[in-house]
Amino acid sequence: MICVPITARSIEDTISELSLASKHADIDIIELRLDYISEMEDAEICLEKTLKSKTKPIIVTNRPKREGGNFEGSEKDRLCLLQKAIELGADYVDVELDSVRHITRRDSSKIIISYHNFKETPHNINKIYEDISQCKPDIVKVVTYANDITDNVRIFELLKIANVPTISFCMGEYGHISRILTRKFGGLLTFASLKKGKESAPGQLTIDELSNIYHFKKTNKETKLYGVVGNPVSHSISPVIHNSSFVEKGLNSVYVPMKVLDIETFIKDFRKMDFQGFSVTIPHKESILPFLDDIDYTASKIGAINTVVNQDGRLTGHNTDCMAAIKGLEDGMEGNKGALKGKKVAIIGAGGAARAIVFGLKEKGCDIIIYNRTIERAKRLSDDVGCKYRRFEEISELNTDILINSTSIGMFPNVEESPVPKNALKKAMIVFDAVYNPIETRLLRDAEERGCHTVNGLTMFINQAAEQFRLWTGIEPPVELMKNVAKNVL
Ligand code: NAP
Repeated sequence: MICVPITARSIEDTISELSLASKHADIDIIELRLDYISEMEDAEICLEKTLKSKTKPIIVTNRPKREGGNFEGSEKDRLCLLQKAIELGADYVDVELDSVRHITRRDSSKIIISYHNFKETPHNINKIYEDISQCKPDIVKVVTYANDITDNVRIFELLKIANVPTISFCMGEYGHISRILTRKFGGLLTFASLKKGKESAPGQLTIDELSNIYHFKKTNKETKLYGVVGNPVSHSISPVIHNSSFVEKGLNSVYVPMKVLDIETFIKDFRKMDFQGFSVTIPHKESILPFLDDIDYTASKIGAINTVVNQDGRLTGHNTDCMAAIKGLEDGMEGNKGALKGKKVAIIGAGGAARAIVFGLKEKGCDIIIYNRTIERAKRLSDDVGCKYRRFEEISELNTDILINSTSIGMFPNVEESPVPKNALKKAMIVFDAVYNPIETRLLRDAEERGCHTVNGLTMFINQAAEQFRLWTGIEPPVELMKNVAKNVL
């Protein structure tokens, strides 16, 4: 179930938000947050009006400051409002564990006994759960703050052993996955905001994100789990692409963003979480290698992976960036598969993307020069592959058939930047930009004006995502859908 909190400050706004939430087909329960309403008298009026005109079940909450709420008045007044909600027959009333003994219960209202921690996910959450259970709750609510992605694991494990209907998740960006995946682990409901800016807690997704990107209501205990591991990941378009593809192919699977600080502890803790696969992005493409069980041939030659497949508990690393770039280039050259052999290639950048591209080009028999700002990095890659390297500043004297940008220059928000002066671009040159946000970069615009043939980074991005999908599912990916979804988001 999805519950949306009403976080208005006035009677008028409360009524208007209630009306929007009541009409939204994906919202099952509405939480009236009395502590957001500025005046105590207004809160009382809102409570009466809401319960009188409700079309969906209502949770009444009046959270004190000590548990992350906004109630300014006395504790007596706060409890008085909660008691009134019970007397008026609210479907559910949320009472904090330390206040429940002051409340007189009635059969007409179910009591959610709650615990909130806005600082951390404490190690004694099972003990907190037991303490709540002893107070005979109708529903248990344990909400903590995640300071690391692994904090979610303890919440999932708590949900698995819960013997009373339980709401439990982590707040904050690291806690996103516990909000999205709660149905998989047996959680009763998740909270979502009506729209951006109306969140009642950090890390709350909007109802539209939960429904349209993560297809929350389609998830259940059998749902297979996938995700992107990196830092940052909040800007990633991979969740939209992979989740749309799962739906298109009728697969009961979901793909979530996972902000990971320490890759070693992440892999150790998430082995027990039964994820079927991960995409891996900056900064973990190389540092993850020692913690996997197997690395496929191409990935071990490159020394970086972007995909993990979990086969019966064994984690294997793959690199789909390499074939994605080469296929993108070959398709851009009108599908002439032999066209790369013997071509002169100048590649700017020596990071993870460059590494995958350069290894692929070497196998195709290209004559490669790497240009990079940090010359030591260019030397290291050129030594590993067996090719030439130059200083980044020497790029203005280009004599090449193919030019590739594999730096982040020109990427959003610095969309007016280009790694190459326009006059260095020559007619009939093939110019490939690995940057895909924006799709048409300044470099590609300049190249088109100079009569070059251009290949954009979206082609590579879709190719690598499509290959990940094949590796994880064994099913042919819906490539056209992937392209259209990506274009819409970008
Ligand atoms: P990375 O490992 O962090 O490497 C970044 C590279 O960019 C390094 O060579 C770095 O040079 C260079 N660089 C960054 N800012 C620069 C500046 N202001 N001036 C000169 N050089 C600069 O990142 P990555 O994974 O290789 O990704 C690089 C780009 O490729 C990103 O835009 C990413 O979005 C894109 N990418 C696209 C795809 C796709 O599917 N289309 C896949 C992967 C990556 P130094 O060594 O001197 O720091």
